[in-house]
Amino acid sequence: MINLQFCGAAGTVTGSCYLIDNGKHRLLVDCGLFQGSKAIKERNYGPFPFEPSSINAVILTHAHIDHCGLIPKLYLQGYKGPVYTHPVTVDLASVLLPDSGHIQEMEVERKNRKNSRAGLPLLTPIYTAEQAAACLPYFEGIDYGVEKEILPGIRLRLQNAGHILGSAIVELWLKDDDNNEVKITFSGDLGNPGHPVVQDPAKIVHTDYLVIESTYGNRCHKLEKDTIEQLKEVIQTTMKKGGNLVIPAFAVERTQDLLYALHVLIKQGAIAVDKIYLDSPLAAAATDIFCKHQEYFDEQTKSLSADGVTCPFYLPGLHISRTTEESMAINQISGGVIIISASGMCDAGRIKHHLKHNLWRKEATVLLVGYQAVGTLGHRLLQGEKQVRIHGEEIAVKADIVNITGFSAHADQTGLLNWIKSFDHLPRKVFVTHGEEKSSEDFANLIISELGLEAEVPEWLSSVQLLPVPEKIVAGPTEKLIAQAAAAEAEARYQRLVIQLKAMVEAGFARQEYDRINRKLEQIEALISESLLEEVS
Ligand SMILES: [Zn+2]
Ligand SMILES: [Zn+2]
Repeated sequence: MINLQFCGAAGTVTGSCYLIDNGKHRLLVDCGLFQGSKAIKERNYGPFPFEPSSINAVILTHAHIDHCGLIPKLYLQGYKGPVYTHPVTVDLASVLLPDSGHIQEMEVERKNRKNSRAGLPLLTPIYTAEQAAACLPYFEGIDYGVEKEILPGIRLRLQNAGHILGSAIVELWLKDDDNNEVKITFSGDLGNPGHPVVQDPAKIVHTDYLVIESTYGNRCHKLEKDTIEQLKEVIQTTMKKGGNLVIPAFAVERTQDLLYALHVLIKQGAIAVDKIYLDSPLAAAATDIFCKHQEYFDEQTKSLSADGVTCPFYLPGLHISRTTEESMAINQISGGVIIISASGMCDAGRIKHHLKHNLWRKEATVLLVGYQAVGTLGHRLLQGEKQVRIHGEEIAVKADIVNITGFSAHADQTGLLNWIKSFDHLPRKVFVTHGEEKSSEDFANLIISELGLEAEVPEWLSSVQLLPVPEKIVAGPTEKLIAQAAAAEAEARYQRLVIQLKAMVEAGFARQEYDRINRKLEQIEALISESLLEEVS
């Protein structure tokens, strides 16, 4: 019996963690930190819902903290096995996990100052930077497309998820007690096709069961003017006003997406900027890691490198400030430069200094390019607040606040659905996770109505049994198996055709392109009657 338990990212976006047990071995896919409301964050403390020392292997989809942030805690509580992941993720985790430990130490230190004044017991961080660093030697890189037997009877293959560099779709083949094989695929966080820097998500040929994310399960990205074009306009307007352009950005992927876009504009001769500052030690380290792994860039990003060797992110005029002194020196500049800094939601890090020095200047612009959670400084700016508090000081907001939403690293509803449709054989059952409840439920219903598949939204800590798919276990002569496979293929092909036809016609109707639809349907009709004629003759 193969058992799958949803230990995180079920009914919520963060805390990704799945436990798989085939009766002989126990695996974890992801072990992420819960982020968001106080009640959700509470889950980071206390024991895991399983015994860490009973786990035989961990598989990690990508380096975002909500997917890997509790791995150090796993080791502290007794796990001693490997973490299999993509080589880029090994490198990114080596800076992101100690940084996460450092943030927790700082938070606990602040709380303990209060607690000791109030005579309350002192807290300890979930893990420290040093404890996070101690688990890194257990990480083992596996490249995309390479199949590896990680435990007897359990094979693993990673495929490109196109979300951030090194992000992976996880394909797992497991044998149950009766030696029947079951395949389960985890989408991980799935990227937006056409997104710069990363390659598009890989197509999956076949899976019995699928666990898919649904961050944008009930939303479609707005069809906007080209993101780079929008960025060009913001830069030109700000430089004309004579101010600085301040861009809060997440250190991994978003910062590099911006550097890519800036490189394109510089190459076009579309912008004239004195200097571009990258002011975040974490973003600088992440950029260096991206540059070390240029072979995973998509073609358009690779083509930006003049000699094919120099990393396209080290663009002309870029100044990476690594020390505090270098960072502070930027505060003296009143206009003409671009400052990219973290955190992306403006609630921590060096960005707060840059906002303090630029928000009150009417000639400056603050450009928001990422998700801004309710309650963060970034969200308050987005809401148009005219006065904000930074480091205990009241700051007037006179700068322009601009928002560009086209940088999302997640596939939207259409992207997620199209990815499933692209499988050669549709899965027997789909589990929809990693989304707010409504988003996951809407997407599960769409899978049922559009693809005719079984789909459900598992509850946090619930379990399911993964049974072998009957067609695959029927023993018999080879001919019988071949005939069954051919029948399954025909069925899948027919289903795909129905779906594609429906989608095409509906899209045409929505756009009122009746002539085009008529022409296409006419062609299809002709093809069908032709093949019918062939059959009779
Ligand atoms: Zn992610
Ligand atoms: Zn995620």
